[in-house]
Amino acid sequence: MSFSFANVNGKAALAAGDDFYDLFRISQGQISDDPMIAIRDLDALHEMAARLSEHDSDGLLSEAALGPPVPRPRNSFGIGLNYKDHAAESKMDLPEIPVVFSKYPSCISGPFDEVELRTERGDYEAELVVVIGRQARDISEADSWSHVAGVMVGQDISDRRLQLGARPPQFGLGKSRDTYGPIGPFLVSPDGLEDPDDLHITCDINGDRRQDARTSSLIFDVSFLVSYLSEVLTLEPGDLIFTGTPAGVGMPDKRFLVAGDVITTSIEGVGTMTNVCR
Ligand code: ZN
Repeated sequence: MSFSFANVNGKAALAAGDDFYDLFRISQGQISDDPMIAIRDLDALHEMAARLSEHDSDGLLSEAALGPPVPRPRNSFGIGLNYKDHAAESKMDLPEIPVVFSKYPSCISGPFDEVELRTERGDYEAELVVVIGRQARDISEADSWSHVAGVMVGQDISDRRLQLGARPPQFGLGKSRDTYGPIGPFLVSPDGLEDPDDLHITCDINGDRRQDARTSSLIFDVSFLVSYLSEVLTLEPGDLIFTGTPAGVGMPDKRFLVAGDVITTSIEGVGTMTNVCR
């Protein structure tokens, strides 16, 4: 049974319909209330999701404080130029191997948190974010999805001045200011999606559609990325992969983010985040 996992007031929960269920309570203490520990318990999460109807709800999602489903990842990878149309708008050649950078985990924030810009060149990047669920070392592409806990909506907010002003460009710092990594509100297990490799992803700024794509046009897909990274280093539960953004970011037309902008990021079947800039 698929699950939809959330961080409600800092505690691990399952979401279903309009309701959330506290995992520590409904599992009678078997599953940790710490989202970072609960996420390692994939089999138990699937089991609990199948038996949700046996439990009373702990409240309405619409009234809950939803934090990042994975609040303290050990590693957080970003993939650059992973959609052809975005590589073209960035005037870059298509990569032959993945462009991988560290989006430092301290930038991770909640799905409805404010983005603190601190730059004139802040930009948005709607992304599918993969959450590792089982330790992965030298995993084949065919085995990749079985090591994934689920996927989330994410924003790879970028300070283009920090990112591109240095020579050579430094992706790490430019994508890692505090609050530059909103994720959530839900971590959805892959079996809850009709085709986890073909999801509609969009980004609106103040209601204006800027990005509109399908994840099936990723140059390096989720199976490849998990396999590729697992050959270099051991992936652990909770590690994140920001898989790259499609065309439509602000930089080519210098439509940078300003205070008050509302960023709405959606992936079909996964969720919607709303982040206001200040
Ligand atoms: Zn990105």
